[in-house]
Amino acid sequence: QLSPMTEDRVTGAADPAARIAFILERQKAGWLSDPLPSREVRLDRLDRLDRMVVAWQERFCAAISADFGQRPLLLTTLTDVVPTRAAIRHARRHLKRWMARRRVSLGWTGKPASAEILRQPLGVVGIVAPWNYPLNLVLSPLTGALAAGNRAMLKPSELTPAFSEALQQAVAEFFAEDEVAVVTGGPEVAQAFTAAPFDHLIFTGSTAVGRKVAEAAARNLTPVTLELGGKSPAILDPSADIARAVPRLVWGKLLNAGQTCVAPDYALVPRERVDAFIAAVMAEVARQYPGLPDNPDYTSIISARHFERLERLVEEARDKGATVVELAGANDAVRRMFAPVLLTGAPDDAAVMREEIFGPILPVIAYDTLEEAIAYINQRDRPLALYWFGTDRAAETRVLEGTIAGGVTVNDTILHLSQDDLPFGGVGASGHGAYHGEAGFLALSKEKPVLRQSTWSGVKLLYPPYGGVTRLM
Ligand code: NAD
Repeated sequence: QLSPMTEDRVTGAADPAARIAFILERQKAGWLSDPLPSREVRLDRLDRLDRMVVAWQERFCAAISADFGQRPLLLTTLTDVVPTRAAIRHARRHLKRWMARRRVSLGWTGKPASAEILRQPLGVVGIVAPWNYPLNLVLSPLTGALAAGNRAMLKPSELTPAFSEALQQAVAEFFAEDEVAVVTGGPEVAQAFTAAPFDHLIFTGSTAVGRKVAEAAARNLTPVTLELGGKSPAILDPSADIARAVPRLVWGKLLNAGQTCVAPDYALVPRERVDAFIAAVMAEVARQYPGLPDNPDYTSIISARHFERLERLVEEARDKGATVVELAGANDAVRRMFAPVLLTGAPDDAAVMREEIFGPILPVIAYDTLEEAIAYINQRDRPLALYWFGTDRAAETRVLEGTIAGGVTVNDTILHLSQDDLPFGGVGASGHGAYHGEAGFLALSKEKPVLRQSTWSGVKLLYPPYGGVTRLM
């Protein structure tokens, strides 16, 4: 039997705004009682977070598989559990250096005063997460929040209800509600959540919802880190070795059945190599996922709505003249297993070339010159990730310097996101701000400059009266 309070927690409460305000107030009071937590306190919180992940690992993984329909347990271990624990370990290892006060040397106008920068927690951080890597995308931002000395409230996605409930129970077991709390529910709860006066919000999700979150946060002047999506291109350079590039591209595209924010969305391929590229993709899909869609290593599409959205993308592109190359068997709508397809000749006005695909559909765009490929990217929203395959260093430099993207992996996909020392975040429509490692610590800290005046101060020479002097130099 659940107490009314616990029931409220599980269901998201009848009046979510009141419940959110109540927890937020408690967390703010908790934070004020210890506004600059010691390293020991922070290490203890990070320790508890890690112990929570270990204790709940099997239940989390099973819940995520149930939410998807089919998702390999090993995939969840590799993409959710391992990076989360690595982020916690990384924060623990570097915490002392991140927390240290920075002495700053002053110019001649400041001397003989002294100055330093104090890194202070902001207070209470709100974290809103999507469903695609539900554990990683809620606990990695939390790691930065706790390392920086904040309290945090988490709002996981309504599309992973089993995971969200497990997370709520796990967090309640390892943390006091005024340290870390979970609020569950759909878009209405999410709206109430993002309208609350947090000291910082980290939102991971779609660009469309990110816009709404930015608006809601602006009303409170709450700073936001927006981790959004978009169409991440992969460019195959004429110098690329197709046999080496394609397996890496196919892996990144089909990981989690394409439901990855940094998945290569479409491929730009030199016109004369398109046929060889397609043949290599077909062979590699068959090698990595034999027997699709009946393959235990593949992942279901999260919901019927998303499954139908992907079907519509392919149909509309076909209607507009694209050629659909089937890379595996037929779709299984009941189990939401979407067989990967490749598209050629999809026109620019097809939805598949305007919207983020977020599924196992790979449009191939043929190009003739590198300048044309770069222009194609620059005419569109700034992508979250960009991939370039090749050995021609001059061409690589041209692409790196001529395009703007959230992050880049050269000669592979996804991997720049897996390194805690690389800041992760988008630019323009793919988001703003960054986290991971020290970038996450800094995003959730106030770097407060402090100038300490000395006993003797030359500044008093500048006090009035000026006695008619009009210029000094
Ligand atoms: P989504 O934007 O639909 O939902 C994300 C979260 O926002 C959910 O928790 C949802 O409840 C909440 N939400 C819904 N409506 C809201 C509103 N009006 N106000 C405030 N919050 C609201 O995204 P999704 O479908 O869960 O995830 C897929 C998207 O997320 C893709 O675009 C993908 O690229 C992006 N994504 C980005 C990253 C990244 O790190 N940049 C990582 C994963 C996914």
